Amino acid sequence: MLKLQGIAVSPGVTIGEALVLDSEGFRIPRRFVERSAVDTELARLAAAVAETTGEVERNRDAIRVELGDQYAAIFEAHLAMLHDPKLQEELTSAVRDRNWWPEYAVSRTLRRYAKAFQNLDNHIAQRAHDIYDLEKSLLRNLLGQRRETLAAISQPVVVLAHNLTPSETANLDRRLVKGFATELGGPGSHTAIVAEGLEIPAVVGVGPFLADVSGGEPVILDGNQGVIILQPDEETIAQYRLEEEAAKHVAARLDRLRDLPAETTDGVRIQIMGNIEFPSEVEQCISRGCDGIGLYRTEFLYLTSRREPTEEDHYKAYSSVVNAMGGKPVVIRTLDLGADKMLTETTPEEERNPCLGLRSIRLSLRQLPVFRTQLRAILRASALGDVRVMFPLISTIVELRQARMVLADVMEDLAEHGIAFNPKMPVGMMVETPAAVMMLDAFIKEVDFVSVGTNDLIQYTLAVDRGNKEVADLYNACDPAVLRLLRRSLDVAREAGVPANVCGQMSGSVMFTQLLLGLGLRQLSVPASAVPEVKQVCRSVSAADCRLVADKALSMYGAQEVKAYLRDQLRRLLAQTGA
Ligand code: PEP
Ligand code: MG
Repeated sequence: MLKLQGIAVSPGVTIGEALVLDSEGFRIPRRFVERSAVDTELARLAAAVAETTGEVERNRDAIRVELGDQYAAIFEAHLAMLHDPKLQEELTSAVRDRNWWPEYAVSRTLRRYAKAFQNLDNHIAQRAHDIYDLEKSLLRNLLGQRRETLAAISQPVVVLAHNLTPSETANLDRRLVKGFATELGGPGSHTAIVAEGLEIPAVVGVGPFLADVSGGEPVILDGNQGVIILQPDEETIAQYRLEEEAAKHVAARLDRLRDLPAETTDGVRIQIMGNIEFPSEVEQCISRGCDGIGLYRTEFLYLTSRREPTEEDHYKAYSSVVNAMGGKPVVIRTLDLGADKMLTETTPEEERNPCLGLRSIRLSLRQLPVFRTQLRAILRASALGDVRVMFPLISTIVELRQARMVLADVMEDLAEHGIAFNPKMPVGMMVETPAAVMMLDAFIKEVDFVSVGTNDLIQYTLAVDRGNKEVADLYNACDPAVLRLLRRSLDVAREAGVPANVCGQMSGSVMFTQLLLGLGLRQLSVPASAVPEVKQVCRSVSAADCRLVADKALSMYGAQEVKAYLRDQLRRLLAQTGA
């Protein structure tokens, strides 16, 4: 049994069969060869070995010409490894005697070798990489055209991958993918956000572990604690089964809150809105009693499609959300593409610092036809219900004004053509950069509402990449700098009489509910899965007590101190209410 700690990003516990995807996306299930097909499969294995040999020889020869014999020797070593009689015998015997599928035999055997090398405390450990290279080459040659992808899953699995992009995650079949864990990834990554939206338990940033597991093996994924357990023993499986059951009971209890208002014990009504990435998520928001959609991340329309969405594609998505919400507010955020939310095919060129680069509103203002298409669709949808538009990542007043100008221009266009829309559609901006917070007193005069995007605000305030596991400990919503910016934003909005919301992941974590209410927040926008718990906390506290909690937290200087305090406050509250 091997227990590994990663970063918990989407709650839930699941036990299932592993589907391993390495960094090249190979999928190697534990599959067996029929006895009658053993010879054919052995021939396939031999052909793959021959093709890999050819590849290595070609590389060797090319390098010899470029750099000389000394460098070409590296490839000689690869060849020697590949043709090592013991290795060859092991592979053959795995197929012939154990009836393993050749792909599975290659993956299992070479990974065992690589692992043994990795465990050596000397320069030979480096050779593990060479073995992985050989494994990949053999798998490429074995799988050829039959290489399977995530899209071809046909039975329930727990996906274990080196990394998953937001678009790969968005395309996961949630009926079959019971959970996933990745070696890379940070706490605020969009992959994490999508997992939460899809309600798939997930753990990211585990570090290297794929060499320790093979497809088909049982695995436990604990998205609450950020843990994965490989080769679990019976006792651990039984314990987790109990946990799964207990979680179902809690969910059923929270379900009863659905039609009750999120009102504090001293009568303050809190609005709990839902965050969505896909129109299909509206169902979950409705069934959990959301007061509206506070953040619709429309860029996911791009991430699930291979072509540029048309105005009709946009309109179809927005109108289905607006119609389903039946008159409740729907805040549609304009495209926030760029940084990690980019299809590789559409990335114009490598950006050194994508988070600081051409993303979000900057990209929209550069690609006006794309922006106008989206705005037309949003405006058309505004004729159907309470639609509000929101611009992401505003960092200067010029951007805000430019975006509003494009919007006004598109409105004029629609009016000229007699196309219906709401000319008074509220316009808001996201507050996601320290610059926006510092200038909010000016911006606030030109918007109808604001929404604080703490996911990015944390990233830009603390200079930590939200998707990088190496600095995940610094990416902390409890950091006093973040709390002060948050307080300032909410104060400025309140003084100006402009509605404010917080739609970053922090507002979906009950650890922060008392703090946020104490800072004066009256509207939260959270992933649908978080609605019941957040509502329960809102209904258990008084706004007056929350103010004390916020004052105390804001008087602290260290993130750890704040975290310990907020955790303790939550624990006390839950103990008092018997939750
Ligand atoms: C945020 O930054 O807090 C936010 C809600 O936007 P996203 O996570 O999509 O960047
Ligand atoms: Mg953001």
